[in-house]
Amino acid sequence: MTTNPSNAPEREANRLTLFWQKFGPNTYPIDIDALVSGTFNGDGFQGSLSTRLERFDSFEGCLVKTSGTDDWTILLNSRTPNKRRLRFTYAHELGHFMCHRHLRDRFEDSEATLNDFHSDVEREANIFASSLLMPANLFRDEFSADPWTTELLCAIGSRFECSLQASALRYINLTSKPCAFIVSRDGMIVWSSKSKTSPFLRAFKFGDELPELSYAKNPPPSEVAITDSVQTGYSWSESQCCKESQYFDYSGNGFQYTCVEFTG
Ligand SMILES: [Zn+2]
Repeated sequence: MTTNPSNAPEREANRLTLFWQKFGPNTYPIDIDALVSGTFNGDGFQGSLSTRLERFDSFEGCLVKTSGTDDWTILLNSRTPNKRRLRFTYAHELGHFMCHRHLRDRFEDSEATLNDFHSDVEREANIFASSLLMPANLFRDEFSADPWTTELLCAIGSRFECSLQASALRYINLTSKPCAFIVSRDGMIVWSSKSKTSPFLRAFKFGDELPELSYAKNPPPSEVAITDSVQTGYSWSESQCCKESQYFDYSGNGFQYTCVEFTG
């Protein structure tokens, strides 16, 4: 499904960011409730947009129009265990409101649709959410000079109250540095992303084994969640040396996050 190009998700997010930074409190992590009540329940939009946090069985988030009106409601599931994920879902539903409400009257999101990279509508709502929660201007001002490490990744996640995966994807998309982010479990890649300037990686696709000489494959036997960045030569690329650091998720999922920065 294609959408109206005038409703491009980044442009819509930037419009709200400008509003928040110039005329709003300009505080971050952004207060989405305050943004919604300050923006849409005033001049310029004839209907209303409100938010309800309740227990639901069938979805994590939903944008729905009240029949016969121009009033919209974002429903958020209070049972979502991870508050950062709930924030992202909130911003995702706001993205549907800003970019897609001319398409239909109801958007319902489960974990599957929130991670659907094939649907234009879902992908655009995620781009909107990421751009709104982590504005490019702040990102570049505060984080572009630092090396790409799991320590930086955690700092970004805390600064914007976003998941580490969402924070990593935003960094990778905005940076000019050659770098990559790998999520793995039991030595196999589950998810990965690399910047435009990154070289070809020895292992990158879902199901690939971590490279034999990488730090990710041979982390230190300790209980620490974050490791220092270490040089691991050509472990990830035949053409460029790199530094690697690790983050271990002890919440029960067994995921390992690896930040790789190529140093030439
Ligand atoms: Zn959606």
